[in-house]
Amino acid sequence: MSGRAHLWRMAARLKDLPPPERPEIALVGRSNVGKSSLINTLAGQNDLARTSRTPGKTRLIHLYRFDAFVLVDLPGYGYAQVSKAMRREFGRLVEGYLKTREALRLVLQLVDVRHPPTEDDRLMRQWLVFHGLKTLVVATKADKLGRGRALDQARRIAGELRLAADEGPILFSAVTGEGKNDLWKAIHGALRV
Ligand code: GDP
Repeated sequence: MSGRAHLWRMAARLKDLPPPERPEIALVGRSNVGKSSLINTLAGQNDLARTSRTPGKTRLIHLYRFDAFVLVDLPGYGYAQVSKAMRREFGRLVEGYLKTREALRLVLQLVDVRHPPTEDDRLMRQWLVFHGLKTLVVATKADKLGRGRALDQARRIAGELRLAADEGPILFSAVTGEGKNDLWKAIHGALRV
């Protein structure tokens, strides 16, 4: 499964967001976790979302339009090099979107498979649960670990973030395509309800 997409809109402030035209699926995760690479993999396009080794550069909400939904890339959290005021501003933008967007069907929370969830990952998870948002955790960069280690890490992530059976983590790799079909299934499932 795949689906071509294009960058539909960008927004720096909540009031710049366009009215929703389709159901939306949001992506959250710390900077550099692999959000852009996941977007490119889902779309089957290498150049759709910019991937970069400089974390924290994306400070806008990017909305990518697929056939059946809009994928909403929210600014990455937890980047130490930005000021506290800037982090607060990102927080307001991300939380404002997540709390108010009626078209939102599913939040994909990305975590790096190689590390235990960070404090920011845990806080984001708690926040999503508190606000009753349907969430699926995606463990990125699965190709960087051997199979056994990746599965161990997935169990650890599920335990530390207290995930229900249908909340992941999906082991995902933008390099090998692992997890792509599972992710598509979860997206289509969320769009059906
Ligand atoms: P973003 O900041 O969350 O959008 O992260 P990017 O998609 O730009 O990825 C950050 C870095 O991780 C880049 O150097 C990517 O090439 C690398 N990366 C992302 N996904 C994967 C993956 O699945 N496997 C490997 N090996 N590297 C990845």
